[in-house]
Amino acid sequence: MEALPAEMSDTSPDVAVAGAFEIPLQEPFRGVTARSGVLMRGPAGWGEWSPFPEYPPEVTARWWQAAVEAVTRPWPAPRRAEIPVNAIVPAVSAERAHQIVRDSGCSTAKVKVGVGDDRARVEAVRDALGSSGRLRIDVNATWDVPTAIRRLRELARYDLEYVEQPVPTLAEFARVRRAVDVPLAADESVRMAPDPLHIHGIAAADVVVLKVQPLGGVRRCLDVAEAAGRPAVVSSAVETSVGLAAGVALAAALPELPHACGLGTLWLLTGDVTTDPLHPVGGVLQVRRPTPDATLLDRWTPRPAQHQTLTRRLEAARKAFDAVRSGR
Ligand SMILES: [Mg+2]
Repeated sequence: MEALPAEMSDTSPDVAVAGAFEIPLQEPFRGVTARSGVLMRGPAGWGEWSPFPEYPPEVTARWWQAAVEAVTRPWPAPRRAEIPVNAIVPAVSAERAHQIVRDSGCSTAKVKVGVGDDRARVEAVRDALGSSGRLRIDVNATWDVPTAIRRLRELARYDLEYVEQPVPTLAEFARVRRAVDVPLAADESVRMAPDPLHIHGIAAADVVVLKVQPLGGVRRCLDVAEAAGRPAVVSSAVETSVGLAAGVALAAALPELPHACGLGTLWLLTGDVTTDPLHPVGGVLQVRRPTPDATLLDRWTPRPAQHQTLTRRLEAARKAFDAVRSGR
């Protein structure tokens, strides 16, 4: 693995940037064909910093905060040893959706809707799960209020556990909630909130989705869950096993975990940085923290241009993080 410049390694005497990775995705996602980021090492273990390419330093600083926490502080005490996870069904055909759920071993599935023939996709997933499985959908804020009300009334026949971010704002959540019985989960409304500890209108959501890197760490997510006063579902940001381990630690530490988590995402990458990957077995992830493998880190060394971009973005994230921390 190519080393990053020495000045990147001095966040604290105990924290080192151990290297960078670029791993192709199975399918393009959010306009990228590979996930890339930086792995850090410190007294508490390994951490991952892997923000999406379009995010500015004010946003990637929170991701940096999460990585610093991972390497400098032990995880909060776990309350459980296993985390149930959901199958993930992207905007694929009904046949492929059925196959993904059947092969997953999960009794909960999350289906992307709002693209293609989503009704057929949802129907296929309900068929694959059977009547006892839990089926949730994710709209990624692409509906307006009338569309959300109409579509949710139509899809309610498939017995939805909840719908994730059906509309962009929590004010719109409140309008949808008055018209339909399907529980509503806030994802983007939590992650993009100016202050996730004081989210205006969060009472209109029945569930909050927590992502460790976007929210700035495991402890910060625990605080967000407590402030929201709603059941939480932990989801990944499509990370390597190092990043996923932080999500697993959060799911293990939450006081209550009534829903399966969106942490079974490793299969979306074509490889991993450890020989002991966090793949679910039988719909469940064990609570553990894999260690990267030097040979695999070498294999996923970024292309030089990508390496330069990561180095530049990391420096900007660190500056933004230090500025916030010192109140500038
Ligand atoms: Mg979502």
